[in-house]
Amino acid sequence: MTGSWHQLRFHTSAASGKADIPKTKALNNLYLMGLTSNMNKILEDMPLRLPEEIAPNWYRLRIPLPDTPLKELNSYVLKGRERSLIIDTGLNRQECLTAMQQGLQALDIDLRHSDLFITHLHADHIGLVTDLATAQSSVFLSRPDAALIRAWTGFDSMTAYAVFCGFPEEQLQEGLNRHPGFHFRPGELPELTAIPDTATLDYAGYQLHCLPTPGHTPGHLCLYAPEQKILIAGDHILGDITPNIQCWSDERNPLQAYLRSLKACRDLDVELVLPGHRELVRDCGRRIQELETHHAQRLAEILEILDHRTATPFEVAAQMTWDFAANSWDAFPMAQKWFATGEANAHLRYLEEQGDIERSLRNNRLAFTRPL
Ligand SMILES: [Zn+2]
Repeated sequence: MTGSWHQLRFHTSAASGKADIPKTKALNNLYLMGLTSNMNKILEDMPLRLPEEIAPNWYRLRIPLPDTPLKELNSYVLKGRERSLIIDTGLNRQECLTAMQQGLQALDIDLRHSDLFITHLHADHIGLVTDLATAQSSVFLSRPDAALIRAWTGFDSMTAYAVFCGFPEEQLQEGLNRHPGFHFRPGELPELTAIPDTATLDYAGYQLHCLPTPGHTPGHLCLYAPEQKILIAGDHILGDITPNIQCWSDERNPLQAYLRSLKACRDLDVELVLPGHRELVRDCGRRIQELETHHAQRLAEILEILDHRTATPFEVAAQMTWDFAANSWDAFPMAQKWFATGEANAHLRYLEEQGDIERSLRNNRLAFTRPL
């Protein structure tokens, strides 16, 4: 990205303390960034989203995620006098970048004096780091997720495992092409700073303690501000949707890790949860309980599905109930079938390790049975 868009300033209304941005001005300034007329059309169609103040110098930016059930990513910005911190970014697509730029402009954030913290490696969180990180920025990520990124050789092992789980081979390429993590993955990544689980970050006068919460990804990290009783939850705790827990390997048991991580948050003194998507959560304890109940119900449902029959993870996913606007499994968009199969397999792996179900091979495909 070129230009000096971060130096453009908006006036701040003294009365509200919040940025007062006329839409036309924002569009004009963005136009100065050298955007094409086609992009200007996209901008005109996009509602201007003002940063929302969570606490003094602590803001939420709503980054649209078009064509996904998640709808938006919540990026949080801590504006410090010397350095600022941007937590999670959005997908590597123009709509996300534009919304991010608008938000950062409104807050008068200079990227040369900003660092980035990524709660986990998924593309909707890390997608824009290539555009946002400057030579002076640190990009913080957990050690396990940074190691996964460094070891990443492509989607081949994941797709091979999806076929092993019964995902129809002929639909796989389409599934992958529509996978937002594939399509809108970040460009060449800047240097990542893998931070220890016990690290504390200090920005804008806030002390943020890293809180390892493996499950959604092996290295998912929340940030906890004990003094303000605020938990930046990434995709560990979401409000009106449940975090997707997927398993694409025999070695991991992500649901077990996730449930342990939920338990670890039960005793935290939290008054406000800042999730990676959708609305803020006030009652952390109740939400944790709801999420635990949700997974217990899922596990029970799968045991019922496997009563007297053997099924692949794909077949199990096809029979589970999903909170998604489609009339039948066949009508599910391919990317959702992909997520559903990974989610079904996470529950199957959990049940397998509990000794409730057993695996077998059926035509070289993984299948599970509930022993009598
Ligand atoms: Zn996410």
